[in-house]
Amino acid sequence: MNPRFKALEIIQTREPIAPLANRLSPSEVFAQNVFTKKAMKQYLSKSVYKKLKISIDTGSALDRSTAEQVANGMKSWALNKGATHFTHWFQPLTGLTAEKHDSFFELSHGEPIDKFSGSELAQQEPDASSFPSGGLRNTFEARGYTAWDPQSPAFIFATRYGSTLCIPTIFVSYTGEALDYKAPLLKSIALLDKAATAVCQYFDSNVTKVTPTLGMEQEYFLIDRVFYDLRPDLMLTGRTLLGAGPARGQQLDDHYFGSIPERAFAFMNELEQEAHRLGIPLKTRHNEVAPSQFECAPQFEGLNVALDHGQLLVDLIARVARKHHLCALLHEKPFAYINGSGKHNNWSMATDTGKNLLSPGRNPKENLMFLAFFVTVLKALHVGADILRASIASAANDHRLGANEAPPAIISAFIGSQLSKTLDEVENPPRRRRGKNEEAPTNPYLKLRIPTIPEILQDNTDRNRTSPFAFTGNKFELRAVGSSANSAHPMMVLNTIVANQLEEFKERVDRKISRGRKKELALLDVIRDYITESKAIRFEGNGYSDEWVEEAAKRGLSNIKQTPKALDALVAEDSVRLFTKLGIFTESELHARHEVLLENYLNKVEIEAKVLRLMVSNSVIPAALKYQGALVETLARMGKLGFEASIYASQRKLVETLSKDISAILEGLDAMKAKEEEAEGLEMRDKAIFYAENVLPYFDVIREPVDELEMYISDADWPLPKYREMLFIK
Ligand code: ADP
Ligand code: MG
Repeated sequence: MNPRFKALEIIQTREPIAPLANRLSPSEVFAQNVFTKKAMKQYLSKSVYKKLKISIDTGSALDRSTAEQVANGMKSWALNKGATHFTHWFQPLTGLTAEKHDSFFELSHGEPIDKFSGSELAQQEPDASSFPSGGLRNTFEARGYTAWDPQSPAFIFATRYGSTLCIPTIFVSYTGEALDYKAPLLKSIALLDKAATAVCQYFDSNVTKVTPTLGMEQEYFLIDRVFYDLRPDLMLTGRTLLGAGPARGQQLDDHYFGSIPERAFAFMNELEQEAHRLGIPLKTRHNEVAPSQFECAPQFEGLNVALDHGQLLVDLIARVARKHHLCALLHEKPFAYINGSGKHNNWSMATDTGKNLLSPGRNPKENLMFLAFFVTVLKALHVGADILRASIASAANDHRLGANEAPPAIISAFIGSQLSKTLDEVENPPRRRRGKNEEAPTNPYLKLRIPTIPEILQDNTDRNRTSPFAFTGNKFELRAVGSSANSAHPMMVLNTIVANQLEEFKERVDRKISRGRKKELALLDVIRDYITESKAIRFEGNGYSDEWVEEAAKRGLSNIKQTPKALDALVAEDSVRLFTKLGIFTESELHARHEVLLENYLNKVEIEAKVLRLMVSNSVIPAALKYQGALVETLARMGKLGFEASIYASQRKLVETLSKDISAILEGLDAMKAKEEEAEGLEMRDKAIFYAENVLPYFDVIREPVDELEMYISDADWPLPKYREMLFIK
């Protein structure tokens, strides 16, 4: 029996997985498996808790004996929760998370004991020589170590099969080079804190700390597990390399915000409960635009923890889906012809006095503060656009960026008509004569004539889904990050370029003040300059339109569609100067990262080419030949029976079409092979570019006749699950 039909039979028997017997309320389960401050208080002595809290709040290091006691308390907590093992949990450059478990169990003089020492908490040396390092480590000196990040709380990853205490860590080489996404991220957070706090002093001396905040929306697809198992492309590359578009895709817009199908709903319920247990504040869930596409989003948190939660969430989504006989597709573009998936990174900065720095104020003074930060972000984006573009580049995201559905590969910012007007007015203040008897206002802020930005703004901002970086009332939304990406990388870049710009902002303002300019006027001068200087990055129109591509080129904005070249910006002179000056990366770290990303690109595309060849040879061609053979036989028989050729002329034509398609496929495969061979021996960057420009186009050359065959060949003989089946059977 055609395995596809077997799969369809299995699906008929699927039921939503029954809800958990005792679904607890979110407030009951929330952070149950997290070593929260509350748990710390319970398991640590007062003095140890106090020291740990200082370390968490300020980032200072813990002394040995305190670490020892923290480890002890953490162990008791974890054992009580049923954990048997502990692991450092880190984020290597694979883009995934990594863990290596050690048991608490140990033999001491022949007696079993549970042990977890301060040094095991603080540092581990996984033999992690196989992680990509971009040449920073040779395998024979594979020493890299993981070091505890006390600012992200430890948690217990509990499954039905066992529980593990996970300790978020950074991963660095023995010589101190970053081998992960978290180490540079933490540096960028500290940098932004310093630069933003300094700028805050112009307005409010009570601010002593600024923390970037992040709320990350996650899009994904859910399809039944049996289909996934029958699609080598989904399994090995994450996306369908073949498949005719269904007669109905997303044209009807009937999936978006539609009622959630039951099986997906059951999945979401369980996902939320698991997420809540881990302290991930999941809040929203809904259907997305494409059929079988969904989204969830947590409430925003401090950036560091939000990113750890983002990585954990992706892991949970995959695991919970499996339990529901579903497969969660996190690839940026699992299906052609319909929308792909992103991670929308809602980013802002918050002070320790409770102020959101990107929230417009109620009076001229607050608005001046808002404008200072707001225009500095715009200016940072203008200066750092290419580096930010590089940070979201991947083989998978290339299918999304620039396609007619997602933010284009051109970085720009959307700020809405009201703020555009405000910036225009600040740049060119409307002239206003004071009445004869009107006294000059004594409040310096009133003199500045900063247009008031109505509070209502927060609720009625216009939305522009086509912009990669949209202001949405009190935060920016970076929409260009891929759904499977570790957002830590682009967020690190965003923090860094903004921190750098804030430093420059302060220098400019201080220079003016030192020359005798009044503070408020100096601030306004620089705000005005920034508005003028960053104008090219602002775009309010349709980011998907061809006009924008032209317009952006005129403005001198980059539009690099493919990853290998987009990545150049990471190691370009500007980038090296920026990151080394600010101490985020050394030059060799940057080059290493660049190499890892290029290699990753190349590996992905090479794997896709192999899978494509295999699927075509193993499934498509045999099915096509079988159908063609049957047709030919029929025609021959008709001939023998004496039917006139004119009667079966169109059937003959069908055989011709099939033959043409089969030949086109085989020729395409040969031509692609020749290109692949041509690429052999090229240097990594050249090879990646060569693949992007010369091998990838053959994917379409081959796919087109395959998809045509799918439409001609008898449904009974088509071996691969069809788009219609994968996307519409719920
Ligand atoms: P949308 O209309 O885009 O769905 P939401 O209000 O749902 O907007 O917000 C999307 C995400 O933005 C949520 O995760 C939310 O917590 C987050 N968010 C809201 N305010 C901030 C902020 N100040 N900083 C970072 N993220 C924020
Ligand atoms: Mg949103």
